[in-house]
Amino acid sequence: MRIHLKDNSNIAVIGGGPAGSFFAHFALLYAKQLGIKISVTIFEKRDFTKKGAKGCNMSAGVLSETLINKLSEQNIRLPSACIQQEIDGYFLQVHEYGIPLHYPYPPHKTKIVTVFRGSGPRFANYDISKSFDHFLLEHAQELGADVIPHTVTNIQIPKDPKNPVKLTYGDEVSKAEYAADLVVGAFGVNSDTLYELNKLGFDYVPPQTVQTCIMDIYPTRTVNNTLYGKNIYVFSLGSKFIKFAAFVPKGDFLTICLVGKKDMDKAQLHAFLNQPKIQEMLPKDWDDPKKRCVCFPSIPLNHAKHPYTNRLVIIGDAGISRTYKNGIDSAFTTAQLAAKTAFERGVSENDFAEGYFKPAKRLLGRDNVYGNIILMANDIISQQRNIVSNHIKYMSEHPDSWGTRQMNEVLWNTVTGNATYKNIFFKSINPRLLLSLLPVTLFSLIRKNG
Ligand SMILES: Cc1cc2nc3c(=O)[nH]c(=O)nc-3n(C[C@H](O)[C@H](O)[C@H](O)COP(=O)(O)OP(=O)(O)OC[C@H]3O[C@@H](n4cnc5c(N)ncnc54)[C@H](O)[C@@H]3O)c2cc1C
Repeated sequence: MRIHLKDNSNIAVIGGGPAGSFFAHFALLYAKQLGIKISVTIFEKRDFTKKGAKGCNMSAGVLSETLINKLSEQNIRLPSACIQQEIDGYFLQVHEYGIPLHYPYPPHKTKIVTVFRGSGPRFANYDISKSFDHFLLEHAQELGADVIPHTVTNIQIPKDPKNPVKLTYGDEVSKAEYAADLVVGAFGVNSDTLYELNKLGFDYVPPQTVQTCIMDIYPTRTVNNTLYGKNIYVFSLGSKFIKFAAFVPKGDFLTICLVGKKDMDKAQLHAFLNQPKIQEMLPKDWDDPKKRCVCFPSIPLNHAKHPYTNRLVIIGDAGISRTYKNGIDSAFTTAQLAAKTAFERGVSENDFAEGYFKPAKRLLGRDNVYGNIILMANDIISQQRNIVSNHIKYMSEHPDSWGTRQMNEVLWNTVTGNATYKNIFFKSINPRLLLSLLPVTLFSLIRKNG
């Protein structure tokens, strides 16, 4: 069956996070190019101008260089008011040793920046310049999208695909209906909508998720500069329950981001923070409860099954994204693919299967297979304290050796997400690199067993 958007078609986007705003951007762009008059309405339950949980789409808030390049290709200019901190590099802390990681091909200056997704932590006693999600939503509005600040509570897919999809939104007082020729699910993985869709009778299965932990504290800019400079600190301390930990400086604030092997909770957060190495690196007064904002958002572990049907497509985290890396970049990619499909092919189930989900799986899904191998290998290797420490020590003592430069590239691409997981995987099993690491590995094994 062919179903097409035409003049006066209504598109409803559920969720005004990055995926929703990017979809509106591309839909309005493609419609203009094709000379079709459409209306795009974004339903967003959060107010991104608010501090704390009410305004925040909970993340570490690092915008990758790849995303920043894509934004500027689309003429989406991030205002300086959005940027909390420009980042020069990463610092990898492994047990007692640490090394700076830098862009592998100097003299290039990195373009990584940190942002707040809402208007800052709940305790912030001044207005944080501008939320990233608010900026994107305003950008979509400037292009012509309408924003309805309400929760979508019900979706009714018609039996006959010629008819529109009906949405119900608002609370008891403001309850209303909306008929859409296309519905775009951009509601992320921290929304009940995800599970409501299971009941609609098409084969959508949401991604599996794990609960992470984010804590914002208030060291002040001076303390941040002294302790971390313009670096994001990543920790690989061989913990049994933490997969990935990072300190992300944001002007006066510091975001501590923990991704666990299972769901994170307060006890695990405290166990992480109370490790001697972490205590050494935390600012004084970090545990002042009046200057802490903690949340436990979910992150996808894999992609959804069948995130589309006639007149409905699910994008961003709720559809498919890169595991553990640059979710906002994935939101951009899936939004663009889905919008292109809607305008160039049509909005039927088959159009989204072929034009959106197949290419998205090729780009992101397949790469996640390599990502999972890399992350599993990292879990195992980081437990080998002696070997890992000696390698990092060797790298810090021989910064210009061929092996160090190659390892820097692998680690840089892993922490920044600048290269595909496939590229990182093949680079890290390069026989010459493995051979160059052998002497330090053997030395560590002999010391361990000797
Ligand atoms: C701990 C952690 C750290 C992360 N760090 C980074 C990082 O540094 N860089 C990066 O690129 N990515 C990061 N991510 C991933 C990133 O946050 C997500 O990939 C990205 O936000 C996905 O965008 P989205 O638009 O699909 O979903 P979301 O950002 O979750 O947006 C969904 C929106 O839909 C709204 N909504 C939901 N249901 C409804 C409804 N029924 N009606 C109306 N509105 C609704 C929500 O309020 C929300 O605004 C991190 C994630 C986690 C958990």
